[in-house]
Parts: sequence; C-alpha cells; structure tokens
Amino acid sequence: MSGGSYSQRMKPAVFFDRDDTLMECNSLPAPPPPAKQGDVIDPKLVRVLPGVAAGLESLAQAGFALVVVSNQGVVARGGGTCEQVEAVNDRLREQILLEGGPVLAGMYYCPFHPQGRVPEFACEHEWRKPAPGMLLAAERELGIDLSRSWLVGDATRDIEAGVNAGLAPERCLLIGPEAPFADAGAAASWILSQSGATRTPSTTMSMVAASPDGLSDPGVRATVVATAHGVAERAGVRLLKAAISPGMLEVTIEGGRLACLGLLTEVRRITNHWSGTRGGGPLWAGEEG
Ligand SMILES: [Mg+2]
Repeated sequence: MSGGSYSQRMKPAVFFDRDDTLMECNSLPAPPPPAKQGDVIDPKLVRVLPGVAAGLESLAQAGFALVVVSNQGVVARGGGTCEQVEAVNDRLREQILLEGGPVLAGMYYCPFHPQGRVPEFACEHEWRKPAPGMLLAAERELGIDLSRSWLVGDATRDIEAGVNAGLAPERCLLIGPEAPFADAGAAASWILSQSGATRTPSTTMSMVAASPDGLSDPGVRATVVATAHGVAERAGVRLLKAAISPGMLEVTIEGGRLACLGLLTEVRRITNHWSGTRGGGPLWAGEEG
C-alpha cells in the first residue's frame, strides 16, 4: 500500500503490473497453503524477467515515472502478510537497480479480496484491479498526468484497471506469449516508439487472411501471434507489436521493410503449413502489403 517517495508535477507514468509482468510468478513452485500458485511471498524467489531492467531504464530516461500496481489478495487469503509483500516489493526494487534499471517512483499493492478470510482485508476495495484506485492514488500522490500515461500488464484485469482510470485503451498494453506484446521489454520499446523518444526506425506491415474471417477462431489467432513472437526471437528481430483480427495480422518491428517482410513470410509459411496439417486451407491471401 506504500506510495512513492518523490513527486514531480504532472509527469506521465508507465504503470506496470508486478507478477509475470516484471518478475517471475506462475512458473515458481507453489508456496504453502493458504497461499497458492502465483503468490510470491518469499523475497528470495524474486527474479526479474528478461528485458525488464533495460526497458524500465529507457522509459525513465524518456521522462516517464515508473509505478507498480499489484493485486495481492494473498494477504486477505491469509497466505502472506503485508510485511512479506513489502519485502518482496523491496527485493524487486533492489534487483531492478542491480540489473541497471531505474528507481521506481511508486509501488502500490492491494491486500484486499472479497473472498478473503482475514477479516481486516476480506472485502472488495477500490484499489483492487480492475478498479482504478491504485492508479488514481498515484495520480494524486506522485503528480501523474494520466492523459499521457501507459499501462503494461499480463492480465485482462490490468488492462481494465487502466481503462477504468481513464487511460486511452490503446495505451493499455497486454503482454504474453499470445498477446500483442511479447513481454514488458517489447511494450517499453513500443511506448518509446510512440512517444518519439527513440531514434530506432520501426516498420509496420500487414498480412491479409485468405478469407475475411479466416482468423475468426481465437485459438488460431493465438497460434499465429505466438508463431510471430517465436520467429522474431529466432531471427533476432525485435517484434514490437503483433496485432491480430479475424481479417489480418499486423506486425511492427524495430528495423526496416526487408526484415519485416522476412518475418511475415516466415509466419505465413509456418502457419499455412500448420493449418494444412489440421486439414484446413491456407490462412493467408497472396500478398503482404
Ligand atoms: Mg500479472
């Protein structure tokens, strides 16, 4: 529940979810009950995810305040205490610094949960995402200009919290293996590219589905996006964004048209083959544009 220690008037922020956005979470061994898989209450287990420290550092250099907003219902469930959550948060701050990252402007967490069993915390609360309370507290306490701010998280409720705080939906970035942004580092690069804060050129190209709703199956869309992330990683291309709709895939990379075309061609080859092995037709129309 602690806020930040410094305040500067009307600074844009990037709000980050904590678990599986900045640090490992669901891949860790389950803690003893009533804590559950995904609860991190032991500071010794804090591992900053790859690309996080560098991404945060570039955002800080571009003038963004970095603010963590994290649901910690584990406290209400009796699986950990506020002191344990704060010890994990402190370890995360420290680890980010050790890896060359910046000082975080604020770290907010919500210990409440309506189904909790610790009476003090067993209730719904305006800070619990998808409610926007933590972002609004940061706005007041840290002097954040929400209209120029962004949010990055790995869950729908993170995105909803940003939108509920009044952030533009296109400034609330979902990350994950099947999401438009692979990880927090990719989201940071995207934010910098959209803020004019980077000199690295980016290229956006799209590929049209073989039929107008040829990608209507969410499982197919998820496979295509995961393939794009995988191809980019193997090729050493920085994929900033992979946006997919029932009618097309649009990718933005750091770099020029040739690399972008190469990425799309490979995604087309792999996913058309994959579709064929499932008895489907080609997913993609003739030309990239
Ligand atoms: Mg998360």
